[in-house]
Amino acid sequence: MNVRVRFAPSPTGYLHVGGLRTALYNYLFAKNQGGKCILRIEDTDRTRLVENAQANLIKSLRWAGIEFDESPEIGGDYGPYIQSERFDLYKKYGMQLIENGTAYIALDTSEELDAMRERQQKAGIAPKYDRTVMRNEFTLGKEETQRLIDNGATYCIRLKVPANEEIRFNDLIRGPVVVTGRDVDDQILLKSDGFPTYHLANVVDDHLMAITHVIRGEEWLPSTPKHVLLYQAFGWECPLFAHLPLLLNKDKSKLSKRQGSVAVEDFAAQGYFKEAFVNFIALLGWNPTADREIFTFQELCDTFNLEKVNKSGAVFDTQKLDWMNGQYLRSLPLDYLVELLKPELANYDYAEVCDKYLGEVINLLKERITFLKDVLTFGNYMFEKPKEYEPTYIAKVWKDNTTTIITPLIDALRSADDFLHDTTHDITMKYVDANGLKLKDVIHPLRLMITGKSVGAGMFETMAVLGKDECIERLDYFIKTKS
Ligand code: GLU
Repeated sequence: MNVRVRFAPSPTGYLHVGGLRTALYNYLFAKNQGGKCILRIEDTDRTRLVENAQANLIKSLRWAGIEFDESPEIGGDYGPYIQSERFDLYKKYGMQLIENGTAYIALDTSEELDAMRERQQKAGIAPKYDRTVMRNEFTLGKEETQRLIDNGATYCIRLKVPANEEIRFNDLIRGPVVVTGRDVDDQILLKSDGFPTYHLANVVDDHLMAITHVIRGEEWLPSTPKHVLLYQAFGWECPLFAHLPLLLNKDKSKLSKRQGSVAVEDFAAQGYFKEAFVNFIALLGWNPTADREIFTFQELCDTFNLEKVNKSGAVFDTQKLDWMNGQYLRSLPLDYLVELLKPELANYDYAEVCDKYLGEVINLLKERITFLKDVLTFGNYMFEKPKEYEPTYIAKVWKDNTTTIITPLIDALRSADDFLHDTTHDITMKYVDANGLKLKDVIHPLRLMITGKSVGAGMFETMAVLGKDECIERLDYFIKTKS
C-alpha cells in the first residue's frame, strides 16, 4: 500500500503538545512505511481564526524536526493544503449528497434550534436534531422548501443519518467500533453561510488527498461514525482509522493548561532540547520495548508502529521529561552543546569565553544540571568572580582557625607548576596528611573562596578548568578581604 497520512491542525494559535504527538506519530508512521505525510490546515471555522497561527504551527513543527511532504513552504511543490482556499470544492461535494439523497436541506433558525434543545433538555433526552418536527425537506416538502429558499430563506445541509442502521468501523488501536445511527446527530455539512463544517471538509480532503490512514487524537472518535457515513454517501472507500490515547495530567485528569504549559513553544523556550522533547512525546502512548526509553529520531522512524500504541491515556510527566533532558545533556555531542549555549551567553554579563573553555565548563557541570542554560546560572562562578558568598556556607565552614590552616595550602598551590586535577589533588593531600587534617577541613573553605557556593562539581576538577591564575587570585582576594 502507498501509505499517505496527514496532520490536519486547526490554526488556533500555537501547537499543543497533543498536536505534536499526533503530528509526530503520523510522520514516524509515514517514514517507517516509506510513505508520505502531508500538512493540511483546517481553518473552516472562521470564528476561531488567530493571526500568525499557521506560521507559528509550522515553526514549532520544524523545531521538532517534522518536515512535511508536498509543501512549498518547506521545499515541496504543493501545500500545505489550506481548506479556506478550497471552499467551492466542499460546496460542490455537499450538493452532490443532496442530489443522491444522503443529505437534506434544513431551514431552522438558531432560535428554533435553541428551542428544540431546550425541549429535549426538559424531557431529559440527549440533544439531537429532530428531523421529524423541525423545518426541513421532510416536514415542509421539497417544493415548499425550494419556494422558501427562492424567497431568500437561509438554509444548511445536514447528513441524513439512518436511525436504524449500525455504523461499523475498525480502529487500528481500539479494534471494532459499532454505533447505532440513533445515537448519531444529523450533522450539519454545509452551514447557512455556505462554509463547510469540519466533517465535510475533512472527509472530502482525506479522499481527494488519497489518505490511507487517519491517525488522530481520541477526542475525534465520536466524529468517526459520521465520517464513515459520509464515505458511504459519496461511494468512496474509507481510510483506516487509528485514534491515539488521551494525554493526561499526573492526577489522571485530561491534560489542561491549568496544570502547566501545553504549548510546544513554551517547552522550547524553557530550554528543553528538541531531541529530548520529541523522544518524550514519542513515548506518550507508544512503547516499543519495556527496557528502553532513549531513542534517536532515526531510531523512532525505524521502530514506530501502530500496533504498540496503547489504548489507555498517557500521563504527561514533566519529571520524566526533565530526567530525559538530563540524559540528552549528558549524551549530545559537546560541540553541538557549545553552539546551543553560545547565544545564551549574550544575555549574561560574562566576559567572552572561547569555545574550548565553554566546552570544559559544560563537561564539568552536566552531571548536575537539567538544562543546558543551567551551566550559566548554577555555574555562574565559572564566568565571573563570586559577587557574594553564601552566608550559611561561610558560617558552616569558616572557623576561627581556618585562615591559619588554609594560608600555607594556598602558598603550596601557588608554587604548583600547573593546576591539573592530579597536581592540586596531590599537593592538597600531602598538606592534609602532614598536618593531621581531613580533606573536608580544607576542601569546603577552598570551594567557598573560589565559587562562593556550597554546591558544584568536584573541587579539583573545578580548579583545573578555572586555571591557576584565576584560582589564586580568588583565594588571595578572599583572604585579604573576608577572613
Ligand atoms: N482539524 C482537526 C484538529 O484540529 C483534525 C482532526 C482530524 O485529524 O481529523 O485536530
